[in-house]
Amino acid sequence: MKTVAIVGRPNVGKSTFFNYIVGKRISIVEDIPGVTRDRIYAEASWRDKSFTVIDTGGIEFKSDDDIEIQMKDQVDLAIDMADCILFITDMKQGVTSGDKEIAQYLRKSKKPIVLVVNKADNYGDTSLDVYEFYNLGLGEPHPISSVNAIGIGDVLDLVYDNLPDEKDEKDKDRIKVSIIGKPNVGKSSLVNKILGENRVIVSDVAGTTRDATDTPFDNDKGKYVIIDTAGIRRHSKIEENVEKYSVMRSDMAIERADVCIIMIDANDGVTDQDTKIAGKAHEAGKGIIIAVNKWDEYGKKLESKDVLENATKANEMKTSADMKEYNAKIYHDLPYLTYAPIIYISALTGKNVNKLFDLINLVHEHNSFRAGTSVVNNILNEAIATVQPPSDKGRRLKIYYMTQVSTNPPTFVVFVNSKKLFHFSYERYLINRLRKEFDLTGTVVRIIVRERSEKEANK
Ligand code: GDP
Ligand code: GDP
Repeated sequence: MKTVAIVGRPNVGKSTFFNYIVGKRISIVEDIPGVTRDRIYAEASWRDKSFTVIDTGGIEFKSDDDIEIQMKDQVDLAIDMADCILFITDMKQGVTSGDKEIAQYLRKSKKPIVLVVNKADNYGDTSLDVYEFYNLGLGEPHPISSVNAIGIGDVLDLVYDNLPDEKDEKDKDRIKVSIIGKPNVGKSSLVNKILGENRVIVSDVAGTTRDATDTPFDNDKGKYVIIDTAGIRRHSKIEENVEKYSVMRSDMAIERADVCIIMIDANDGVTDQDTKIAGKAHEAGKGIIIAVNKWDEYGKKLESKDVLENATKANEMKTSADMKEYNAKIYHDLPYLTYAPIIYISALTGKNVNKLFDLINLVHEHNSFRAGTSVVNNILNEAIATVQPPSDKGRRLKIYYMTQVSTNPPTFVVFVNSKKLFHFSYERYLINRLRKEFDLTGTVVRIIVRERSEKEANK
């Protein structure tokens, strides 16, 4: 996936621009402790190219660094990761010394740069003010207004021209798998195990300007790509922020994945860091598998000596009493992830790693599930007949109609007479009915509520 980075001084409108271009994607706000709402990464697309957008302004480095150092870090990072850089400036303020400094860093990079002059709200009659930005030495400045959505399409056209063409058409039908988890949980061990045992397709992507490579491979279960952002070059400045950096890497891996394998260290159980990572994968609506790693080690400590030895015949996985107990603990700690299957593995010995691929296929299929409207409405009618929708002060919730509007994850819109009456508990009930009807293990199911008057609904 190509990466486009947005850089610029604070307050020029980076996040406004970012939200505008990625905001069309449906997102549902959920309150999960430990999950911040701010997105730094998101997928966007323009014409037939899709790319990841990074708002570098959302990346906080060490708080005691002054603004200038922070900006330099952000620009460094953008140069490292991006295929194209959008440098945003502010027409109302004109060219500032901060802009000049950023321009100076950017000129040294060999990345394509699109110079954007934001807050050109009266596009057309401000051309003289725009010319000033030629002084930054980055070519033609492009006036836009993020709040009024003026000029954005032209800028995206330039981004489009600067992004490399899709070389890897054959990778399109591969399932993109991200292995995420805290440091030392065993991510690299698992990647090595998988790549060591399967046929690795030499990637065309390698040798391009990016150091990060995604590794495509085949096995008897299917075709996959392991998303790997580990190769992103580390800057000395960034090294001081190792934790922040590893969080960003995992955010990016989540954003680009079809299926996320959340690795938990059996010895530690679910930690705060795991909760944050899991929350993000859940929010992003990806296929999710929880892999409890190092069970070989942990199992030996158990009285029952539950060491995975006989748990891995090709197509069956034995769940011992200890594992069942462990399952309950995980679902207790990650209550919003009860839909995710849990697998016990050892990245070190390779136990159950093969079996993981059955789950990847399953979860991906469920995440891409699409149901026909008539089937969905039969389920809805049955659900309503079984449990009457709630009422309040004599007014009863009416649900007129339900239809699936998108996949990855499966997302349904329900049309109701009153949003207020559509309580969370009834939403939960409907989701559970859908889950009962269709096996949707491993994927979140979302419902969007739209209000319609009775008259509109009958049209
Ligand atoms: P960031 O710090 O670069 O991410 O900037 P923000 O996106 O937070 O925007 C800073 C301020 O500029 C906010 O008050 C925005 O509403 C405002 N702003 C952003 N884009 C425009 C624009 O195109 N025109 C005008 N007039 N204001 C804008
Ligand atoms: P990463 O930081 O998540 O990539 O973790 P690594 O793959 O580097 O593993 C961290 C440490 O845990 C290494 O010493 C590994 O050998 C060890 N390790 C990884 N997986 C397992 C496992 O399944 N069992 C045991 N016993 N050790 C493991």
